Amino acid sequence: MFSLLADKLDNTFRRLRGLGKISEKNIADALRDIRLALLEADVEFGVAREFIGRVKERAMGQEVLKSIKPGEQIVKIFRDEIAALLGGDAVGLDLTDPARIMVVGLNGAGKTTTSAKLALRLKNEGRRPLLVACDLVRPAAVDQLATLAEQIGVPVYKPAPGSRDVVAVAREALEWARTQNGTVMIFDTAGRQEVDEALIDELRQLHAFLSPRETLLVADAATGQQAVNVAQTFDRAVNVTGIVLTKLDGDARGGAALSMRSVTGKPIKFSGEGEKLDQFGPFVPGRMADRILGMGDIVGLVEHAAARIDEEQAAKSMDRMMSGQFDFNDFLDQMKMMQNLGPLEGLLGLLPGFGKIKKQLPEGALDPKRMKHMEAIVLSMTAKERSNPNLLNPSRRRRIAAGCGRPLMEVNKLIKNFSEMRKMMSGKGKMGAMMKQMASMK
Ligand code: GDP
Repeated sequence: MFSLLADKLDNTFRRLRGLGKISEKNIADALRDIRLALLEADVEFGVAREFIGRVKERAMGQEVLKSIKPGEQIVKIFRDEIAALLGGDAVGLDLTDPARIMVVGLNGAGKTTTSAKLALRLKNEGRRPLLVACDLVRPAAVDQLATLAEQIGVPVYKPAPGSRDVVAVAREALEWARTQNGTVMIFDTAGRQEVDEALIDELRQLHAFLSPRETLLVADAATGQQAVNVAQTFDRAVNVTGIVLTKLDGDARGGAALSMRSVTGKPIKFSGEGEKLDQFGPFVPGRMADRILGMGDIVGLVEHAAARIDEEQAAKSMDRMMSGQFDFNDFLDQMKMMQNLGPLEGLLGLLPGFGKIKKQLPEGALDPKRMKHMEAIVLSMTAKERSNPNLLNPSRRRRIAAGCGRPLMEVNKLIKNFSEMRKMMSGKGKMGAMMKQMASMK
C-alpha cells in the first residue's frame, strides 16, 4: 500500500530538498505534482483540493521562504498535514461496561477475520473477549468464526442452525455471556455484496437492541473510493464509531485510507495488514504518514519484533555467533525466529526507503519459498553435519541436494554464504571485533 504514492512523492521532495533557495514557483510546481500524485492514488477530489490548499497556505508562509532548509520544511508540513488528514491522534475503543462491539461491513471486507483479530488483541491486553456469530445469511460464516475463535482460545456463541431472527440470537448470546465471565463482547454481523434495504434493516434492529459502545465498519482498502461511500451509507444506518481498514498489505493505491477520515468524519481505529490473526493493530496516523513519505515505521517494526522474538534465545545465538561456534542448528533456530516474524516483505516494508531497496533486490529475493528451501537443505543434513559444517564435503553435499530435492548449486551457495557469515561474525572477523568492542563499552 502507498508504494506508488511514496515513489512519486519521493521524486518531488528530492527535487525540493535539492534547492538552496525556494521560490513561490518551486512551491507551486511541487504542489501540482503532489496533487496529481494524490489523485492518482485515488484520493477523493475534494479531499485532495482542500489538502493542497492547507499545505499551500503553510508552505507559502515566511517560515518556509526564509528558512535555511526550505525543502525540509515543506516535507515536514506535508507530513504533518497527511497525519492530520488520517486523523491526527490515534483513537482507542470505548470499552466501558457493558462493552459491546458490533462489527459491520460488506461481504469479503474482512469482518469475520477482523472480529477474531480484535478478540486476539483484546485477549493479549488481558481482557476476556467473547465472540458472537450473528451472520445468519451465510452459514459458513458461523463456522469460520468458530474455527478462528478456537485458534485463539476465545469462547464463541454459535446460533442454532436455521436461526433467522438476529435480535433473538443476540438475546440468547447475552444470556450465554452471563455464564462466560467475559468482559467484552464482539458481534460479527451479516454482510451483502452491496448495501441493500434488508441488510440495513437487520443491522438497525440489532444495533437498537445491543446499543453497542462501538460499531466498527470494516472496509476493504483495496476497493478505494467505494470503501468510503460504503462507510457513509453504513454510518447513516447504524452510527459508526470507528473504521477498520483491511488489506493495507495489498497493492492498492491508498486513496481510501487518505479520504476516509475526512469524508466520513469517523476515526480509523485499526488496520489489517495480512490474513494472519496477528497482522492487525491500532491505526496510528503519524506512523502511517511516515510510511507514505518513505520514512518507514521503525516504532512499528520494533514493536512487532519485540512481541515475537524470544530475547533469551536471540542473545544466546548472538553469543554463539561471536564465539565462532555458530552452526547449522543455530541457523535453523534463527530461521524459525524469522518465520515467527511473518512475511519478510511486510516486515521490511516498515523500513525507511524500503520501496527503493526492494527494486534493487534480485527477483524473488523476498519470496517466502526461498526460506523454506533453505530450511529443507539444512534439515537434510545429518545432526553431525549440522553441528560441524566442516564435514560438508562434495559427496555429502550431493546427498543433501538429492535428499531435499534442491539443485546442488543451491546447496553449495547456502553453505558458502553460511561460512562467510560465520567468519565475518566470529571474533576473528571484522564484525566480531566490532561487536566485542561495543559490548565492552556497555
Ligand atoms: P467477511 O465476509 O467480511 O467476513 O470477510 P472475511 O473475514 O471472510 O475475509 C475475506 C477475505 O479477506 C479472507 O480471505 C481473509 O483472509 C482476507 N482478509 C481479511 N483481512 C485481511 C487483511 O488485512 N489483509 C489481507 N491480505 N487479507 C485479509
